[in-house]
Amino acid sequence: MPELPEVETIRNQLNKVLRGKIIKEIEVLREKSFSGDPTAMRGWKIQSIERKSKILEVLFENQPDIVIVHLKMTGQLIYVNGEKRILGGHPSPDWVNQLPSKHTRVIWNFDDGTKLFFNDMRVFGWMKIINFKEYEKYTRKTVPDITEKGFTTKYLFDILNRSEKPIKLVLLDQDKIGGLGNIYVNDALYLAKIRPDRKSDSLERDEGISLHKAICTIIKRGIKYGGASASNYVQVSGLGGTYQDHFLVYKKEGEKCKRCGGVIKKIKLGGRGTFYCSDCQK
Ligand SMILES: [Zn+2]
Repeated sequence: MPELPEVETIRNQLNKVLRGKIIKEIEVLREKSFSGDPTAMRGWKIQSIERKSKILEVLFENQPDIVIVHLKMTGQLIYVNGEKRILGGHPSPDWVNQLPSKHTRVIWNFDDGTKLFFNDMRVFGWMKIINFKEYEKYTRKTVPDITEKGFTTKYLFDILNRSEKPIKLVLLDQDKIGGLGNIYVNDALYLAKIRPDRKSDSLERDEGISLHKAICTIIKRGIKYGGASASNYVQVSGLGGTYQDHFLVYKKEGEKCKRCGGVIKKIKLGGRGTFYCSDCQK
């Protein structure tokens, strides 16, 4: 599943190519994947691509409506300009194969002949036309994401203090903090020397401070490396991010901890693979 750094990476890349593009036609191949009237978008000119947590926001010049996009489990965005492709999201052979593919759900055709493909194998992702003011009202009430100013040490410490659940599950709860996913939460807890299965409210203040710092560090690192695309296929084609080469504990069970020499263990928490060093994470 694309996590925040992967979504931020595709946002940055699409911003470089989509600004100023004028929509000629939107083809919706699977109704479930697009909500709103696609014909209304004819002639709309893209102003910029923004992001809130894992939701991409496409803003248009002089339009009260925006389009929001969630890639969910298997969504991909692939911009095609002749031979050139800009892409992100779930890595799969569709990244380099003929498009549209059988997973293509929506195609944005621009008036210069370039195209943006929204592929989604499992069809959990979506594109929605929504009034910007209504959307803003809604997002103002939502929790901060980990790259926003509202995600402070105090905010983190307060939500952790209110739960007895394992700390990792609280950190992954998108109703409490936006944008933290399984890869980066494992590495952040390692960096902060905190066991993922520890009771959330057992955290001391100084641990809360170092955890906040660790989350910010790991997310910045994820964005710096263009996110992770742990797939053999992607490495062969040279596409996608490289954070997978910098995992600290994620998918490293059985390997030695670089900090203390202990062995990295794997357990399941909330059904998700959880990795930690049983020696230096307390
Ligand atoms: Zn260790």
